[in-house]
Amino acid sequence: MFDKPGESCGIFGVYGHPEAANLTYLGLYSLQHRGQESAGIVSCGGRALRSHIQMGLVADVFKREVFKRLPGESAIGHVRYSTTGSSELKNAQPFVVEYTQGGIAVAHNGNLVNGRAIRERLEADGSIFQTTMDTEVIVHLMATSKKVSLIERIIDALQKVSGAYCLVFLTNDRMITVRDPRGFRPLVLGKLRDAYVISSESCALNLIEAEFLREVEPGEILVFTKDKLESLKPFGQVKEAHCIFEYIYFARPDSVVFGKNVYNVRKELGRQLAREHPVEADIVIPVPDSGVPAAIGYSEQSGTSFQLGIIRNHYVGRTFIEPRQSIRHFGVKIKLNSVKELIQGKRVIVVDDSIIRGTTSRKIVAMIRAAGAREIHMRISSPPTTHSCFYGIDTPTRRELIASSHRIDEINKFLTTDSLGYLSIEGLLRAAGGESQDYCIACFNGKYPIKIPRRASISRKFAQEEI
Ligand code: AMP
Repeated sequence: MFDKPGESCGIFGVYGHPEAANLTYLGLYSLQHRGQESAGIVSCGGRALRSHIQMGLVADVFKREVFKRLPGESAIGHVRYSTTGSSELKNAQPFVVEYTQGGIAVAHNGNLVNGRAIRERLEADGSIFQTTMDTEVIVHLMATSKKVSLIERIIDALQKVSGAYCLVFLTNDRMITVRDPRGFRPLVLGKLRDAYVISSESCALNLIEAEFLREVEPGEILVFTKDKLESLKPFGQVKEAHCIFEYIYFARPDSVVFGKNVYNVRKELGRQLAREHPVEADIVIPVPDSGVPAAIGYSEQSGTSFQLGIIRNHYVGRTFIEPRQSIRHFGVKIKLNSVKELIQGKRVIVVDDSIIRGTTSRKIVAMIRAAGAREIHMRISSPPTTHSCFYGIDTPTRRELIASSHRIDEINKFLTTDSLGYLSIEGLLRAAGGESQDYCIACFNGKYPIKIPRRASISRKFAQEEI
C-alpha cells in the first residue's frame, strides 16, 4: 500500500533545446536539496521516450555516457526526497507508461490527500498498480477517462484528485505542466533562447542561464508544442495556499519562491524573531545551513555579533560506519561540530529554522554546552510545529512532533536551554509578506486548506531515521 506518500520533490523540464537532457541534468543538480533518494530523466527525440532513472544523488546517477542514450529536444527530470528503508527504484520518477495514445512520462512534486481512496477504488475495479506512489493514481485516472484528447484526460483526472501537485508530463510531441489550484508548491517558467524551461525553483534557471519569465500560476496548465505555448485555466478559482515551510526551510535561499527571494524572507524571519524574543548575549550562532539567514537577520536586528560557532561537514554521505565503541550523539557530531574557542565562557543565542521532534536541537545544545557556553538561548525562526504536513513536506506523525504535546517551557526543559523563543504566527506572516493570508500554515495552526481524510497517511522518514 501507500508506504510513503509524503514526498517533497523537485521537477524540471526543457522543451525545444538540442541539449534537453543535459540541461535537465544541470537543473536537477540545482534541485538536489529537494530530494536525494532517486533521480531520473526522460527525454524524447522523435517517437520514443528514453529514460534513465536510478536511486542515488544526481551526480552518481548520471554519468557522461548516459546522455548518449537520452537524445532529443525535450526532457523532463525528477529528484525524490530521501527516505530510509522504504526507498525503492519502482517508486523513482519520472513515471513512464504506455497507454492508448502512446508513451507518456510524468514527474510529480507534492502529495495527494485522496490518492489512497482513489487507488483503492481503482484496484477494486481491476486496475493493477506498479508502484506505491500516488502519482500513478493520476495516470490510471487518465487511462480510464472517457475523454478523448490527452489534455482533456489530464484535466478530467486532476478534477478527481485533491491535494498538492506540480506535474510535468512528456509525450513524443509535447510537454505539459500543471500547478494545483492552491499553488501549494512552487513552479516557475523560464526561457533559454527558443526553448522553454520549467523548474520547481528559480535557482535551477540561474545555473543554465535561462531567463526567469514568471511563476506558473496556481491552477494553470501550460502546453508546450512545436509552434506554440498555450495556457489553460480549467479549474475553478479557489483560495491560494502557498506552503510557508518552503520559505522557512525547504527552498534554496537563492530562489525566488511565491514572488519573493527566499534568503530575504529568512533574514526577515530572523529580524522579527529578535523583535519578539530579545535576550542579552555575546554571540548569535546559526545551526548550519538551515539557520544561517535567520541568524544573520537576528544579529542585525539585535546588534549581537554573528559568529559561525557550529561548523557543518558538507561531505557527509548517506551511510557511515560507526566505531564499535559507541560515540555519544554520533549522528549529529559527524555532521556538525562546535568551535570551542569561540563558544567557551559565552552567552550564546542559537538560531535554527524549526524544531520537529526536538532530538537534533537537544544534541546541538549538549554539544554547545560541552564547548563551555555560559548560557544557551535557543531561537526558532518559525512557530511551534504542531501538525503534520499532508501536502508534500516530509514530517513525522503528529505524536512525534514535540510541540504537539508539550508547552514551550517543557520543550525548553527538554532541550536543557536557558531560554527558548519561537517566532509567532503573526510575525511569520508579517515577515513572509504583508497581511497576506494566501499561505498554508497548517503545520503551525492545524487549519488544513484541503480537508484531510481520516486515513491519509504521511511519510515515515522521520519515524525510521535516527539522527
Ligand atoms: P528534529 O530533531 O526532528 O527536531 O529536527 C529539526 C531539524 O530538522 C531542524 O534543524 C530543521 O532544519 C530540520 N528539518 C525541518 N524540516 C525538515 C524536513 N522536512 N526534512 C528534513 N529536515 C527537516
